[in-house]
Amino acid sequence: MKKQIEDLIKEYVRKYPEEKSVKTRWKEPIVAFADAGDEMFKKLKEVISPSHALPEDFLPDARTIITYFLPFADFVVKSNIEGRVSSRIWAIAYIETNQLIADLNKYIQKQLRQSRYNSTIIPATHNFDEQKLISDWSHRHVAYIAGLGKFGLNNMLITDKGCCGRIGSIVTNLKLEPTIRDDKEYCLYKARGTCNRCVERCVNDALKISSFNRQKCYEMCLSNAEIYSDLGLADVCGKCLVNVPCSVTNPVK
Ligand code: SF4
Ligand code: SF4
Repeated sequence: MKKQIEDLIKEYVRKYPEEKSVKTRWKEPIVAFADAGDEMFKKLKEVISPSHALPEDFLPDARTIITYFLPFADFVVKSNIEGRVSSRIWAIAYIETNQLIADLNKYIQKQLRQSRYNSTIIPATHNFDEQKLISDWSHRHVAYIAGLGKFGLNNMLITDKGCCGRIGSIVTNLKLEPTIRDDKEYCLYKARGTCNRCVERCVNDALKISSFNRQKCYEMCLSNAEIYSDLGLADVCGKCLVNVPCSVTNPVK
């Protein structure tokens, strides 16, 4: 069943550009599964916020969280390297990938329902707090629990296909074997102290080796959102994700 779900996700993403005539392209997704009973979910209440949801808040009989990473194609990543302002291609990729996540989640839900399993669709930003700038369901942290990747100095989840892309997650009552989470670091700074490229690339003085100013980061994202307001809400930046060793691969591997 795990293989079937992985294949469903990969196939859906592969066909999506033709079916929806979008401008963005994605590489083959990576999929990982977390046990809804994993003790680490409770820790998110300490690490992120006391209001961070548990899987059972979405589905009382939750058994598994399906998580996936949708890696951007190389042209999307390269487009965002130059300049202080995000590229239009990057902003479009953000908007189109949000829609892809919504469509993909609905599709998986439909497929699971055919086998009589329930699942819950969680928006890309669930209960986003505009003051604290955090959500009540961090797809990134949930994907970390599932073993999809490890956090880098840039606060992004570094997967085997890097960090340039988007993460989605679905809670279901279908029991699946969880993915094994290894204890290795995927960030060169965390593994060996040999990189701080993301810090050097930060365009708004938000990211430092020992701190992250969430407000300054969001200020930059909102400035881009204003520039690309014709696209919808593209509150993105991503300059610390591109042209760095972990952009499209796990550099420690
Ligand atoms: S750029 Fe270097 S230090 Fe920053 S997250 Fe990637 S590997 Fe880690
Ligand atoms: S997203 Fe932009 S502002 Fe935020 S830390 Fe990265 S480079 Fe800096």
